[in-house]
Amino acid sequence: MTAGSEGKRRFRGLFYPSSVAVIGATDREGSVGRKITENLIQDFGGEIVPVNPNRDEVLGLKAYPDMGSAPKDVDLAVIAVPPSIVNQTLRQVGEEEVKNVVVITAGFSEAGSEGVARERKLQEIAEEYNLKLVGPNSLGIINTASNLKATFGPEEPISGSISFMSQSGALITAVLDWAEDQRVGFHNVVSLGNKAVLDETDFLRAWDEDENTDVIIGYLEGIEDGGSFISVAREVSKSTPIVMIKSGSTESGARAVSSHTGTLAGSEEAYEAALRQAGVLRVGNLQKLFDFAEVLESQPVPPTDNVAIITNAGGPGVLATDAIGGSDLNLASFGDETLDRLSDLLPEEANIYNPIDVLGDADIKRFRKTADIVMDDPKIGAIILISYPSAMVNYGELAEVMMDVQEKKSKPLISCLMGGKRVREAEEKLRQIGIPNYDGPDRAVYSLEALSRYKEIREREYRPPENFDVDESRARKILSRIKDRSENRLGVEAMDLLEAYGIPTPESQIVEGPGEAESVARKMGDEVVMKIVSPDILHKSDIGGVKVGISPENARDAYEDLVVRARNYQSDATLLGVQIQEMADLDSNIETILGMNRDPQFGPLLMFGLGGIFVEILEDTSFRVAPITADEAEEMIHELESAPIFKGIRGKNPVDIEKVAENIQRLSQMVTDIPSILELDINPLLVSSDGVQAIDLRLTVDEEKLEV
Ligand code: ADP
Ligand code: MG
Repeated sequence: MTAGSEGKRRFRGLFYPSSVAVIGATDREGSVGRKITENLIQDFGGEIVPVNPNRDEVLGLKAYPDMGSAPKDVDLAVIAVPPSIVNQTLRQVGEEEVKNVVVITAGFSEAGSEGVARERKLQEIAEEYNLKLVGPNSLGIINTASNLKATFGPEEPISGSISFMSQSGALITAVLDWAEDQRVGFHNVVSLGNKAVLDETDFLRAWDEDENTDVIIGYLEGIEDGGSFISVAREVSKSTPIVMIKSGSTESGARAVSSHTGTLAGSEEAYEAALRQAGVLRVGNLQKLFDFAEVLESQPVPPTDNVAIITNAGGPGVLATDAIGGSDLNLASFGDETLDRLSDLLPEEANIYNPIDVLGDADIKRFRKTADIVMDDPKIGAIILISYPSAMVNYGELAEVMMDVQEKKSKPLISCLMGGKRVREAEEKLRQIGIPNYDGPDRAVYSLEALSRYKEIREREYRPPENFDVDESRARKILSRIKDRSENRLGVEAMDLLEAYGIPTPESQIVEGPGEAESVARKMGDEVVMKIVSPDILHKSDIGGVKVGISPENARDAYEDLVVRARNYQSDATLLGVQIQEMADLDSNIETILGMNRDPQFGPLLMFGLGGIFVEILEDTSFRVAPITADEAEEMIHELESAPIFKGIRGKNPVDIEKVAENIQRLSQMVTDIPSILELDINPLLVSSDGVQAIDLRLTVDEEKLEV
């Protein structure tokens, strides 16, 4: 059985129960138990079983003192009892063989150490009875297709094909309220709560399988298992678009989140990288969340990124043009045939070039014919139709025209009808036929951009990470040197770690005295580089601990000098000697940085960027979660703002991008294979037309995780 079919079966009882028990149901005004029961009574067609030891009847329904005496065929139990008795209640639920549970009650991991222990117990019970459990600390779940509203929220969503999961219950209430206003419909809504059992990845799977869900949207504060989230979302996003609001993107935001739900918020870079790798469209606010959802739900993806604008007023055409200029889309230029047809159709004063101005006196017919002509042009990927109120145009009729035009061609058409009352009526019609209408061209443009990004996501091909032939056991042995150290850091003395994974390094040797320094330098060449080697000195050149261009005859003095400098910096520093390293030609190379640190949620986060002295000033970096594919490694390079310099500047030959990408993947493989590497920096990694060379290394090792 595949994970997918299991997912489908797993959630049937949760979303399509024939009988629902409300444990903690009550008549008491203003109580959660009452609100849930009321919400169920309102619409749900199946059986409702109130459970309350103190009442024979709740809201006119027969009540039962406990699950043991309740009817036996309950599919879903909604628990809204005080926190101290949730776990014993849950056990009864399990004993009665109810398989699906929503725990509304709060007071678990979000509420201090007692709550954490309570939640751990809850997880144990859920596992023992194999329960599909949402929550605790959940607002509940909604399935409009089965009229199930197992929640205490006040809002009643209209039915649609968007499924929504949220970690914040309060946000669900706000969203449903807002969505009703905007006439956005839902299929399922799930308040994830503390995600003690079912989490975001489970619902991604379930909704991907579910034919009633066309778009998945979500609000997440943290992700439970970053690795499995990425791999599941990567697959799901091929067939079902995923749009997420991720909070905590600023540092203070991140703090607010971690104190809020007890989730350890991952670093912003890790989220950004992971969601991108996963094929998730990330947005920053609710407006965009719904604009994206609506356009993805209703419109086809554009065959090209060339957009045509049709308008009856010059001003908004200019605004739309500007918005396109600031996006990844292009303002289309029309083919000759299109231009001929447009000039035959339109009055002389009209503008037949993009944005097409059909003029203020344009009637419905002129709009229709113009749109038809533009749709016929194979180079055009999408149309934005903008109209200002005019005596010649009835918006209702214009809506019908748009529907006709779009039906003929499978290209997106977005509408911008300007004005107040007149728009609202047409808007309802547009919504029914699935054409998004926006109050401004900028929203139209970013929505089209979302469609085009989703097209890329759908079409991209996932090729698994390459597996290089490496010497993993040698690498592990090198790392175990850390056992003799008081610090958990290694430096250039561990450069052979890189070699074990096939990452090139210059010839180098560590010496322990001035005489040895001279003889090694003599063997290496006319000029060498000498570096102090000490776990106590993190930035060697900051204390004058790196000497470049040293001739063999100066190697003795250089050695002594390096030791003096180290002692001056810290008299009791551990000195492991001096590294004699082959000189690299910095003129023909570019200094980059390649590194990794471990994110608590997503694991090894790789970084690539411009290195050397630029790294802190420019902060031109890109991130991906390891293990990465060849395509992702190349993206990391091309994503840098300074990427054009790799093409060759000031007479330098173009950098061998493929080799750079290969070595990023080699590091990716290393940090995936060996979890004891906590963080690692190669700065600089020299890159040139000849390939790459790592000339400095610094890493931190977790001794507890070492295995040889
Ligand atoms: P640290 O980062 O601890 O100061 P590095 O080993 O990175 O020490 O050296 C600092 C700088 O010295 C490098 O960024 C590079 O510009 C130069 N350098 C280091 N090693 C070499 C080398 N083998 N050939 C040429 N230049 C080097
Ligand atoms: Mg360095």
